[in-house]
Amino acid sequence: MSKAVDRTYDVIIIGGGPAGLSAGLYCARARLSTLLIEKGVIGGQISNAELVENYPGFPDGISGYELGQAMHRQAKKYGLETLSAEVVGIELAQGKKVIKTTEGEYVAKAVILAGGAEPNRLGVPGEEKLLGKGVSYCATCDGPLFKDQVVAVIGGGDSAVEEGILLTRFASKVIIVHRRHQLRAAKLLQERAFANQKIEFLWDTVVEEILGDVKVKGLSLRSVKTGDRSTLEVSGVFIYVGLHPSTDYLKDLLSLDAEGHVPTGEGMETEIAGIFAAGDIRKKAARQAITAAGDGATVALSAERFLGEQE
Ligand code: NAP
Repeated sequence: MSKAVDRTYDVIIIGGGPAGLSAGLYCARARLSTLLIEKGVIGGQISNAELVENYPGFPDGISGYELGQAMHRQAKKYGLETLSAEVVGIELAQGKKVIKTTEGEYVAKAVILAGGAEPNRLGVPGEEKLLGKGVSYCATCDGPLFKDQVVAVIGGGDSAVEEGILLTRFASKVIIVHRRHQLRAAKLLQERAFANQKIEFLWDTVVEEILGDVKVKGLSLRSVKTGDRSTLEVSGVFIYVGLHPSTDYLKDLLSLDAEGHVPTGEGMETEIAGIFAAGDIRKKAARQAITAAGDGATVALSAERFLGEQE
């Protein structure tokens, strides 16, 4: 039976990535009673990054996990509370927001949605069946399983190229399969990948099927230029074809854009008074740890202003 917590927080933050943790720091320092709810690992997506090189203040880079933990420690120092649970819905009740979670219900005057995004599926036959049997969305987690083996990486963005480079530490060869002939990734990452002897590229190529019965054996490929089909033997396939926002539980509450992002105003307010959104969950142009952290500060100031106006 779900328990209801007999307390109203000033702010509940949903999501413990850089956006949620920065919002938590600012809210806690504003002396707002604040609860952050995270369903997975504190730090969110960034906790899977082996080395974050573009977060200011760390000239030698910092492990994504450590960065998330440090942000958490900093916010907790000022009084941020944290709950490990999954949010399944939000209801509005007499101006307050009731957050329904797998660990009971929590009530707040204001809510900050900072649940981030999750990896897209490629959507080809074999992907679901072979998940955890050679199909992976996390090179940091699963890369060491492919020591001296040939693996494919699907995608051409920052994630595909960065994780492809990481995989060269374990794999004998990493083949990046990209649907165009030009990478989307940052230029520095491209330079590193092109200079890496263990990385090969298959351009203008899409995956039609992931082959294998009990484990990945290969890929069935198609050239988008010629239509020619071929088979590539690999033991693992790491899929990095973009992200989608974690907004399933918000569909009945807010209007979302076609991709599921939450539209926000200048102060990151949503269409519902007292509900704000920050980071990768919202409709915006840049999706970096630093921009998420910036969102977190802005959104916390907006929430503080909103609560002040309610008094
Ligand atoms: P992304 O930038 O959206 O790139 C997705 C890649 O997958 C693109 O190259 C895209 O091809 C390809 N793709 C999409 N759908 C596909 C499909 N159905 N079949 C085959 N290929 C497909 O995603 P991301 O690389 O995960 O990055 C997400 C965000 O996080 C970005 O804003 C990125 O800058 C940021 N990020 C930053 C860092 C860093 O700063 N170090 C690291 C990781 C991620 P097209 O190019 O043809 O569209």
